[in-house]
Amino acid sequence: MSSPDTRPLVLRGGTVLTMDDAHTVLPAGDVLVVDGKVAAVGTGLDVPEGTEEVDAAGGVVMPGMIDTHRHMWQTAMRGYGADWTLTQYFVWYYLEHGKTFRPEDVHAGNLLSAWEGLEAGVTTTVDWSHGLQSVDHAEAAADALLAVPGRFVLAYGNIQAGPWEWTADPAVQAFLKRRADEGRLGLQLAFDVTGDPSFPEKAAFEVARELGLPVTTHAGVWGATSDASIQLMHDAGFMTPKTVYVHAASLDTDSYHRIAATGGSVSVSTESEQSAGQGYPPTWQVRKHGIPVSLSMDTSVWWSADLFSAMRTTLGADRSREHLEAHVEGNTVTQVHLRAEHVVDWATRGGAKALGRDDLGSLEPGKTADVVLIKNDASPVSFPLLNPYGHVAFQAQRGDVHTVLVGGRVVKRDGKLVGYDGGAVRSAVESTVEHLRGAMGEETWQAGMNPALPEDGDVLDNPYTYTEYKSDETREARGSLFGS
Ligand SMILES: [Zn+2]
Repeated sequence: MSSPDTRPLVLRGGTVLTMDDAHTVLPAGDVLVVDGKVAAVGTGLDVPEGTEEVDAAGGVVMPGMIDTHRHMWQTAMRGYGADWTLTQYFVWYYLEHGKTFRPEDVHAGNLLSAWEGLEAGVTTTVDWSHGLQSVDHAEAAADALLAVPGRFVLAYGNIQAGPWEWTADPAVQAFLKRRADEGRLGLQLAFDVTGDPSFPEKAAFEVARELGLPVTTHAGVWGATSDASIQLMHDAGFMTPKTVYVHAASLDTDSYHRIAATGGSVSVSTESEQSAGQGYPPTWQVRKHGIPVSLSMDTSVWWSADLFSAMRTTLGADRSREHLEAHVEGNTVTQVHLRAEHVVDWATRGGAKALGRDDLGSLEPGKTADVVLIKNDASPVSFPLLNPYGHVAFQAQRGDVHTVLVGGRVVKRDGKLVGYDGGAVRSAVESTVEHLRGAMGEETWQAGMNPALPEDGDVLDNPYTYTEYKSDETREARGSLFGS
């Protein structure tokens, strides 16, 4: 992404959250970017001749945020499922309408989603792309990501087939190898482990290992994946420091020990867990085990790609739980465990660590220059700036994102995306909506905002259409939901 001909740029006089190991904060600091890298961070920096100056005074300069789990293809359905539960999501996407998405529909969703993230200061996003029912869909997903000047990881998945089936497909493997050689996108494999004791997903883990790709998996999702899934992965040696466990909400202490011991990280989607029902947002448990955390937004079918919202709701959910547990014991919480500084760390460093990208997530000389300036002089919410972490987590919002750099390249300037052809993106998304609406019929389309369950109710035990496996265990997670 960095290009040697990018003009040097300095952000002058902002409150700099470096997010380095010591979490150094510079009250009136400069960040100099040269050739796509952070060249210097300090006060009153000398800069090369011709350097572009951005006045950051009154604002906060921080590393670009990192979203480790978003189903970007679903963005063309923005807000459609606002009132869904997880079960209704499974019915709509997994059972009934996910197959209706053509490659161009995946392309349209990804394009919109990619711009949406950049606009909010999210410079890296993992596209948890489980709508890739053919390699043509995968090409479309990748092409859309490469058409937008952000940093993306394509996490290849396909809910229409077993992971052991699609990972064995030579065409899928050829796609992954070619895209890996190109080196323009990060790559992961994205699939869930149902807990079936015959462990059919083993073959998919073996492909991931052969191709050198990390696995990201929805773990601890009430009614879908459970402790049995973690045990199978652990016993077979597939839990690694690069494994990302999404949600990890309905798990017991033993599973958290296994995650902690093998060095993996948890991607918390607090807004999703709160509305959809994977389990209570797990930071209150995860932090007790020292498991690294990153944040994610899951899907724009409910929420937008806004990590300010993730930081805010994660603080709220953790504190809410802590107060509630104390009150049950007749106690009061006098000092909360989770601080604003922690969630800012999770939104930046946490994501970088989860992806094994030491060059991202902090503003230090030599790091890749993914930088965000939050500054909105017209807003009465922009001052006084007394507690910068608290300001970012509870006061700022996406409309305050003034400047965004990805690899030193300006992708948002003065509050406006650079190179964004809104008309073209809108017309692509409108075609997708028209296609889906036409294919479903108006009545089904309207009813889909609150879809009924199929008569057999099987989706409650197993949302995955590619396996008959069912277990009571996914519905017996009560112990862990209320603390083991
Ligand atoms: Zn998800």
